[in-house]
Amino acid sequence: MYDVAEIRREFPILGREVNGKPLVYLDNAATSQKPRRVIDALTEHYEQHNANIKRGVHRLAEESTAAYEEAREKVARFIGAADATGLVFTRGTTESINLVAYAWGRKNLREGDEIVLTESEHHSNLVPWQIATQATGARLRFIPVRDDGTLDLNEAERLIGPKTKLVACIHASNVLATVNTVGRLAEMAHENGALMLVDGAQSAPHLPVDVQELGCDFFAASGHKMLGPTGVGFLWGQPEILEEMDPFLGGGEMIREVHLYHSTWNDIPHKFEAGTMNVAQAIGLGAAVDYLEDLGMESVREHEQRLGEYAYRRLSEVEDVTIYGPEDGRTGILSFNLPEVHPHDLSQLLDEEGIAIRSGHHCCQPLIRRLGVAATSRASFYLYNTEEEVDAFVAAVTRAREFFGAFA
Ligand code: PLP
Repeated sequence: MYDVAEIRREFPILGREVNGKPLVYLDNAATSQKPRRVIDALTEHYEQHNANIKRGVHRLAEESTAAYEEAREKVARFIGAADATGLVFTRGTTESINLVAYAWGRKNLREGDEIVLTESEHHSNLVPWQIATQATGARLRFIPVRDDGTLDLNEAERLIGPKTKLVACIHASNVLATVNTVGRLAEMAHENGALMLVDGAQSAPHLPVDVQELGCDFFAASGHKMLGPTGVGFLWGQPEILEEMDPFLGGGEMIREVHLYHSTWNDIPHKFEAGTMNVAQAIGLGAAVDYLEDLGMESVREHEQRLGEYAYRRLSEVEDVTIYGPEDGRTGILSFNLPEVHPHDLSQLLDEEGIAIRSGHHCCQPLIRRLGVAATSRASFYLYNTEEEVDAFVAAVTRAREFFGAFA
């Protein structure tokens, strides 16, 4: 039984007030709040076990190393990987994609090669590929987004061909709430001998993910969006592909032997973990994964889908509102606009009522341009949000609509 009241009690921050009102936190696509279990895991690490990992033979170093590697196993299991050898800890989705663009891209891309992205990519899955193609002479192609927020798969069939070396796509959109059929894109990529990278920043926290079922070669996500601490995320890659890649950063645990003029590399995944890693944060992410698994990702998805549908229906009742993205199969994200109300003004007005939403381009400038607007407002829900919070949000939006409408 999914008991949202009980879940909320485990998130200390949800008990606070903002501007004298109970906090209604609807900015989860930017970052999630943290349950007591994750906060306690960080505290316990620093109070009881803290030491640098791998290099020490003393008790604390062994305990820290074991906890860090156990976190790696947990995250690998959480995304359905066969084992943890392909699971690299990074600072987050952005760093994970940069790792692939640099370490795989520079080695494998040549003039005439193509990388296929979509019009709905977050800058984190666009800019690294711009840099990689500019450095190698390869070029970018883009699968268009249809007016309903879904990808044009016919166009994808046409674009993905013998020149394609990699297809990279968001699993779920941080603006449109679309869940993309990345499994189908992976098939198209593989039929043409290309690799498939999935940006899972907005899927791993919200949907059951199985990298083997998706059939992707790389999967990237951020810990802080899935109840974990900031400063940690991961890249999963097919082990045989990671083996063939050059390192990303040099120094620290990524080496096997160092000579004055050359070095050799450690085994994967350590080859990609240079310098002292975010050890406590990785352990905190392990605790977050435990928490999500205890709730069950199917239940999390069901809760968010129910809440998302309710929010979509309630917000649609606001006069003249435009809601972006598909009507069905959405995640718990609502991007919208009201005539005569600038998204920043709306965010500010809602903040006065203790309601946290986001406004702007959401790090998706090309997509926002494609929608024909300068910005949107965005409410994003997570496993601890309630129908009462949706009601408070819609009531505040309605009041803002009336307030600004009076000046129009
Ligand atoms: N990709 C998507 C779809 C996102 O929503 C985000 C963050 O908003 C990112 C990538 C980047 O995540 P991070 O800043 O944690 O690296």
